Amino acid sequence: MRILVTGGAGYIGSHTVKWLLANGHQVTVYDNLSLGHRAAVPAEILVEGDLKDVDHLDQVLVGHQIDSVIHFAANSLVGESVTHPAKYYQNNLLNSLNLLERVRRHGIQRFVFSSTCATYGVPDAVPITEAQTQLPINPYGNTKLAFEKMLSDYAPAYNIGFAALRYFNASGASPDGTIGEDHTPESHLIPIVLQVALGKRPHVEIFGTDYPTPDGTCIRDYIHVDDLASAHLLALEKIVPGMGRFYNVGIGNGYSVREVIQTVEAVTGKKIAVKEGPRRAGDPPSLVAGSDLVRKELGWKPNYTELRSIVESAWNWHKKHPTGYAK
Ligand code: UDP
Repeated sequence: MRILVTGGAGYIGSHTVKWLLANGHQVTVYDNLSLGHRAAVPAEILVEGDLKDVDHLDQVLVGHQIDSVIHFAANSLVGESVTHPAKYYQNNLLNSLNLLERVRRHGIQRFVFSSTCATYGVPDAVPITEAQTQLPINPYGNTKLAFEKMLSDYAPAYNIGFAALRYFNASGASPDGTIGEDHTPESHLIPIVLQVALGKRPHVEIFGTDYPTPDGTCIRDYIHVDDLASAHLLALEKIVPGMGRFYNVGIGNGYSVREVIQTVEAVTGKKIAVKEGPRRAGDPPSLVAGSDLVRKELGWKPNYTELRSIVESAWNWHKKHPTGYAK
């Protein structure tokens, strides 16, 4: 396939690009490098561009004879989306619509969308199945759900096939240590705790200790980024024009914030200083995937089934790249 990967220089994007290349596909990365890293993808496949620039997008789709699109480019921080919703509606919704419009006009029939478990809001039940009510509790989730709806309307009308992958918590790094997770500023739990282990932060703050969970801290389903990457390719291969599929992609194991910190202590051998703080706006207490559908329909199976091995791969990257891609 000749695949355009928007946001391909970002964290999940770059790991997926690596996976696609390793599986023999022709890949073009379209990224404005606002959040992505030049060093995260091979220079010869990177096109610097913005989804606002539809003429440029046209040139790239035609010039590279693109037949499939994987769309990662987005803002994805729950807390930031609460304080700065305009950014989320502009980028995640309007820029995504620009892309979808170009896909329609060029007759591209395969589209994979990076959606999120944040579309469920506070779930009716855990583990979460795809059939559960989607009622986001933050603007990030709202924008992702709105684009799922756009895809659902476009697909039958314009014969576009799509898969929307509702990710749980992407984590870990490529086992060869070449690419990993690097956000500025960092807001994700595992890299923050690893930065404490590296002595780059004095402590990690736990956002809320009064949740209705066994230890009072939030529970999340941490999935290795390479296992997410493999799900994208499987989804792309099974797409049927005119039809859309939705898959939860998570391991199905939940870990609390305190358990993540304990796991980092076990992997790194360092004592992690902790400060207990208030809840962060927009965080549901527990998000764990029911992932039967993706396993059954796509034949997907995670290679990393324990938090420990995921944290080990992340630690391997952070030790080698203590300043991320800046080094
Ligand atoms: N979290 C925390 N302290 C931090 C960062 C995150 O307690 O410094 C918590 C956060 O409230 C959530 C979990 O860790 O319950 C995972 O947060 P992250 O930002 O990594 O991913 P998200 O669930 O927002 O996608």
